[in-house]
Amino acid sequence: MSDFTMEKGADGVAIITWDLPGKSMNVLRREAIPVLEGLIDDALADDAVKGIVITSAKDSFAGGMDLNVLARIREEAGDSPAQALFDFTMGAHAFMRKIERAGMDPKTNKGGKPVAAAIPGTCAGIGTELALCTHRRFMADNDKARIGLPEILVGLFPGAGGTTRYSRMVGAMAAAPVLLEGKMLAPKAAKNAGLIDEVVAPEDLLQAAKDWVLSATDADIVKPWDQKGWKMPGGAPYHPAGFPTFVGASAMINGRTKGVYPAAKALLSAVYEGALVPFDTALKIEARYFTQILMNPSSSAMIRSLFLNKEALEKGANRPAVDDQKVKKVGVLGAGMMGAGIAYVSANAGIEVVLIDAEQAAADRGKAYSEGILDKGLKRGKVTEDKKAEVLGRINATTDYAALDGCDLIVEAVFEDPKVKADVTAKAEAVIPDTAIFATNTSTLPISDLAKASKRPNQFIGIHFFSPVDKMMLVEIIKGKETGDVAVAKALDYVRQIRKTPIVVNDARFFYANRCIIPYINEGVRMVREGVTPALIENAAKLVGMPLGPLQLTDETSIDLGVKIAKATKAAMGDAYDNDESDEVLFWLADQGRLGRKSNSGFYAYDDKGKRLGLWEGLADRYPHNDQQPDVHEVQHRLLFAQVLEAVRALEDGVLMDIREGDVGAILGWGFAPWSGGPFSWLDMMGAAKAVQLCDDLAASHGDRFAAPKLLREMAEKGQTFYGRFGPEAKAA
Ligand code: NAD
Repeated sequence: MSDFTMEKGADGVAIITWDLPGKSMNVLRREAIPVLEGLIDDALADDAVKGIVITSAKDSFAGGMDLNVLARIREEAGDSPAQALFDFTMGAHAFMRKIERAGMDPKTNKGGKPVAAAIPGTCAGIGTELALCTHRRFMADNDKARIGLPEILVGLFPGAGGTTRYSRMVGAMAAAPVLLEGKMLAPKAAKNAGLIDEVVAPEDLLQAAKDWVLSATDADIVKPWDQKGWKMPGGAPYHPAGFPTFVGASAMINGRTKGVYPAAKALLSAVYEGALVPFDTALKIEARYFTQILMNPSSSAMIRSLFLNKEALEKGANRPAVDDQKVKKVGVLGAGMMGAGIAYVSANAGIEVVLIDAEQAAADRGKAYSEGILDKGLKRGKVTEDKKAEVLGRINATTDYAALDGCDLIVEAVFEDPKVKADVTAKAEAVIPDTAIFATNTSTLPISDLAKASKRPNQFIGIHFFSPVDKMMLVEIIKGKETGDVAVAKALDYVRQIRKTPIVVNDARFFYANRCIIPYINEGVRMVREGVTPALIENAAKLVGMPLGPLQLTDETSIDLGVKIAKATKAAMGDAYDNDESDEVLFWLADQGRLGRKSNSGFYAYDDKGKRLGLWEGLADRYPHNDQQPDVHEVQHRLLFAQVLEAVRALEDGVLMDIREGDVGAILGWGFAPWSGGPFSWLDMMGAAKAVQLCDDLAASHGDRFAAPKLLREMAEKGQTFYGRFGPEAKAA
């Protein structure tokens, strides 16, 4: 079966239906492009055809381009990948332009055939770009459907005409939320934003599109930019109205991306330069910038981690081959901050939840947390009363362990105390079926130690959520020494049900994410003690793409938590512990009662309402700033290497088993500079030899914690990359 098929009706309308075989959503495959073009050619040449409707046989229209295609084109092109990508892109432009011009006379703009898009549901990326080149877009009135151009979120920008067309349709300013922020819009909002023309009842969708096609006149199908005297809405760059838009947008992009996301800048350049020339030239400019972005290592690393590998992990790339372990009833022990969030995401995914706490009031508070989130959704029109009742109806908040009867999974989130955890493990295991899996959400206690309290350690596992549970996408699954395959599969199937992204790691102090983020925080705090100005530390971090500077992050997670972790780690590590210098700063702040955001005082100053005002100047009295400040790059290297060397050590130690998980986990878990594709992608981009040289320099000036791990040194000597040596292809070979 072909991805696109055409049916010519007796009414003269040719319906082209997109239906990618075997998939729930359409994505545009390379081999499908000539098929669609062939159908368009056929319909345009057939005198019996008066017009065309392009639609989809699925609930949705399209998810976008198969991003593997772009990677394959680049790989196959040998010495001239840029030329191959440019030619491919220009081919797409020519084909879409053919749809847009629809056979009309180039001079008179007459005689073309109307083409409409009938969009039954979600439509993204090249699906939207295809719709944009038709003459009228009809979208079904479907609450769940979204339409947009989210390319920017994976380090690209719409490169099949979407950038040029949409900015010319609504103007650069109005196009910004869709193009620059990748906003996906519900049908009515999409109509207001000019992305679509009509929202119709789902059952009328096709007929409405057909009726329009049959009634459209020559004038209805000529795009504004193909008409004489066209002017860019909102003003072209040198127009008095357009000028401030472009100046402002340029400043905004640099402010938001800190110059590390090349796609946003390229997009704006394509719109700006494109607006100064005729449409076909503008498409060529768009294609050049698109090629430049596809050739940028940051874009390919982002696509690899944030799209391809993230999806592979979500689909179970590392799932043991055991039967379906979908969760039906989950018991959540502890209804505090984490337990309440875990109960919500589970119930929201259709899983029955028993939420247990020591006191009924605490269990009820935990359930009320779900109610709060659902009420917010109600206010924003994202949740209905029925949905709210349904989700809350799935949560049984109780103190009675007998209610855990029939649970196939337990997630324990009581106090971080081995005794309390052992106690609830025994109580739950006395009730749950023999086959049930017991998971702990501990952040710091070894899984293998906690498993000692279990009667069935092979069914005991770590499922580590991040806070806030409903927002954070990563879930770390931790295998204890005796954890079996069924437990891993259960955890993975559960994470899939709640639509988060899993990584599977082995049991070691702080697992993976916290193991890497703690050195980042420590390095920042250590610099404060050395006399580096806090503003330099924070800005250096943000300029290299970290969402929060280390000092702000410490304030957010709370300084007393840092103190607690430092003390416990020192007690466990003894002489091997080397963070006394940064600890001194944290201990001092905690002694001053400056506990971070929760006390409205920390590295930053806050007003009474908790609004962050700026870095706290009083810190300089205790830790004066050096006259001579380090170069910003040195600060950035210290902050990044503190994290990536820990990631390499986690791989060396066997905590990480898959570098894809190391990269995806770093971005989703703690926001590691997403432009880089993650720590391993960053090291590959730089090359192991350069990384080792930087480590040597940092170790000489700042200490052994920067010493290059053996693995990295060996890779430098052999000229290897992480993806070359540990990537999925290398593993499969
Ligand atoms: P919390 O203090 O907010 O909640 C713990 C809850 O457990 C409380 O409601 C308490 O009443 C309940 N509880 C204590 N003893 C109990 C018992 N014997 N039976 C039933 N309920 C009992 O703590 P939290 O922040 O939700 O953390 C819970 C767990 O999650 C800890 O292991 C923590 O390390 C881990 N964790 C926390 C975070 C975080 O950011 N807070 C992130 C990941 C993991």
